[in-house]
Amino acid sequence: MKSHHAPRAVTDAPRAVTDAPRAVTDAPRAVTDAPCPGRRGHSAGVVLIMCMIMSAPLGLPGCVASDAPDAPGEVIAAESFLADIARAVAGPELAVKGLLPPGIDPHAFQPRPRDVARLSKARLLLVAGHGYEAWLEPLRGSLAGVEIIGAFGPVEGAGEDPHFWMDPRNVESALGTIVDALASVKPQARERFSANAAAYAGRLIDLDASIRARVASIPAARRKLLTNHDALSRYADAYGLSIAGTVLEGSGDGAEASPRALARLIATTAKGGAWAIFLDAGEKASLARSIGRETGLKVVTDLYVEGLSAASGPAPNYLAMLAHDTEVIVNALR
Ligand SMILES: [Zn+2]
Repeated sequence: MKSHHAPRAVTDAPRAVTDAPRAVTDAPRAVTDAPCPGRRGHSAGVVLIMCMIMSAPLGLPGCVASDAPDAPGEVIAAESFLADIARAVAGPELAVKGLLPPGIDPHAFQPRPRDVARLSKARLLLVAGHGYEAWLEPLRGSLAGVEIIGAFGPVEGAGEDPHFWMDPRNVESALGTIVDALASVKPQARERFSANAAAYAGRLIDLDASIRARVASIPAARRKLLTNHDALSRYADAYGLSIAGTVLEGSGDGAEASPRALARLIATTAKGGAWAIFLDAGEKASLARSIGRETGLKVVTDLYVEGLSAASGPAPNYLAMLAHDTEVIVNALR
């Protein structure tokens, strides 16, 4: 399975779906100065909780970060949250470049030739792994000389929720792999990397404790999440929430929520007693409204799971992303 849910454009500005003008999603993006082609027309139908929202109004595959010098020997981290984590470990000792800028949905990312050229000259490419980077597989032949490391496990994989970072303890477990990967590039800085990782681990432990405390404030009967695909199971398992239902089950290459899927969601909702659904911020406000009307659920749109927000947004780094998502979830369910 290449991708476990529908690729889709994402938007930058978290907003209340019911009220925000559609124009928000078309606002110019500050993240990159690279001109992006028009918005991709795959706005997935009902996209619930997860893969949310990240960011760029012009969330298009193939738009590469503007801070991407085409230099050989780069250390590149695929997703924005992963680059942030890797930078915390690297410190000033080693530059870690991002590949996907905030707002690009990793599931929908399609590298352009210039991206492939850049990657093929990299020294190290850090990915989340477990098959999350479906775009990587067809490139393997071009990246023969690049060390590719999965932070959370094997690079390839399928069939399980690959969003391991949604549990900060999994990030803590990944720090050793990241230290080793960076040290393979700059062995003399290994001690520094290890010290940085230890400091960051402390912050992850604090984050984990604060998420636990916040989720505990949700009445037990309401600790249920409706998801569009299997993206929050790590978070749910870690913090005692359950997944009440999914709209797009299993792999959904190109899948969009159909009336049938919506009907299934409504049935699931009635059965599961969920309280809120979380829509992709790129979704049409009218559809979000109609889903909210039909299901009677609270509609929430500003969860960040696949990447960070813009620097000025609510999830400019990994720690802030998880803290923000927790507030969104707690406020929606409490
Ligand atoms: Zn996802």
